[in-house]
Amino acid sequence: MAASTPTKRPSDSLPITRFTSVVVRFRRLATTGLITAMVVHLIFLVLFWLLDIWLLMAFNIFSVLLYGLCLIGMRFPALRPMSLVLAWLEIIAHAGISTLALGAASGFHYLLLALVPLVYIDPRGDVLTRLTGLLILTGLFVGLDLISTLHDPWFLLREETLLWLRMGNGIICFIGLGTVINVYARSSRQSERDLRSMASTDLLTGLRNRRSLTDEALLLVAERRSVNHHLAVVLVDLDHFKQLNDRYGHAFGDQVLADTARLMNRTMRPGDSLARWGGEEFLILLTDADLDRAICVAERVRESIAAQTFRSDEGESLSITATLGVTEWRGNEEFEVCVSRADDALYLGKQNGRDRVEVAKPR
Ligand code: GH3
Ligand code: MG
Ligand code: MG
Repeated sequence: MAASTPTKRPSDSLPITRFTSVVVRFRRLATTGLITAMVVHLIFLVLFWLLDIWLLMAFNIFSVLLYGLCLIGMRFPALRPMSLVLAWLEIIAHAGISTLALGAASGFHYLLLALVPLVYIDPRGDVLTRLTGLLILTGLFVGLDLISTLHDPWFLLREETLLWLRMGNGIICFIGLGTVINVYARSSRQSERDLRSMASTDLLTGLRNRRSLTDEALLLVAERRSVNHHLAVVLVDLDHFKQLNDRYGHAFGDQVLADTARLMNRTMRPGDSLARWGGEEFLILLTDADLDRAICVAERVRESIAAQTFRSDEGESLSITATLGVTEWRGNEEFEVCVSRADDALYLGKQNGRDRVEVAKPR
């Protein structure tokens, strides 16, 4: 560590891996569903007013108000489960009353079908709850169809009106099903992308992690065996990092690590890969680079690390150095052998006084 002119404090904003949990996604989906249900019920409200069916009109007014309350409830974690249960009961009651009032030919019981995916999507449900939900929906669907076949509806509508209503309900049901499945499919693809990114990213520095870079290197090595391309490895180890932690604290060390990672990342060219290899070690994989280019890159990285300055909480200015081991892949060796050679060079660099680039020629 050497003192020099202070330029900045290590950044406080460390990279955060964003991941939207399945519970948050379900909540968003439920809120969208509630808004949609409210709009649909407003349309039905107008329709029943035009058809002069006061009972269903009154029920739709009640439904719209209930959805409004549920939407407010969704804003408060403690009220969320109750809001969702109320919305469920409303859809079931609405489908039931409308089917009994106008007959199965009105197609209102189709709306129960749109609830089927929701039985499975709710992340808190266990197998028994899901099975019970499915059985209730199936029983209601079949029961409503049966009752309205055996009994006359409360209100008699013209065949043509019933046909329009049935078609409308069929369309709502398909759009509802399609939307829920689409949102769910998109959300699971996004979850997969998030998980992949989290599994390959180092949380502290935001760089790729060792596993991710190793996977890439193994692929490159397998490809390049036949093609005879160059591949070089630079192993970077920050000097006396333990001392820095001991003197300025681990949190300060973390920030220095994150800033140094960002700095190195800026010096990379497209096609080069940088990963946090472990603790205060980084690995640079240079594709299509021979030993001379790798040495140049290593020198550039060493100089930029040494030129970087930090200011401690006490206002003391300091800079750090790094030792780098460079080697070129031999063309017929395992990747680990190449890395271990770079590690040997790094070890030599430490012995030779640190803050230097040491080269291991392929044997
Ligand atoms: P050398 O010049 O020989 O490499 O000395 P060094 O102190 O850097 O090496 P050593 O292997 O003795 O110690 C590595 C230090 O790096 C000790 C460890 O606490 C620190 N370190 C590793 N990972 C982290 C981290 O994530 N955050 C912080 N703050 N320190 C870390
Ligand atoms: Mg080390
Ligand atoms: Mg070290």
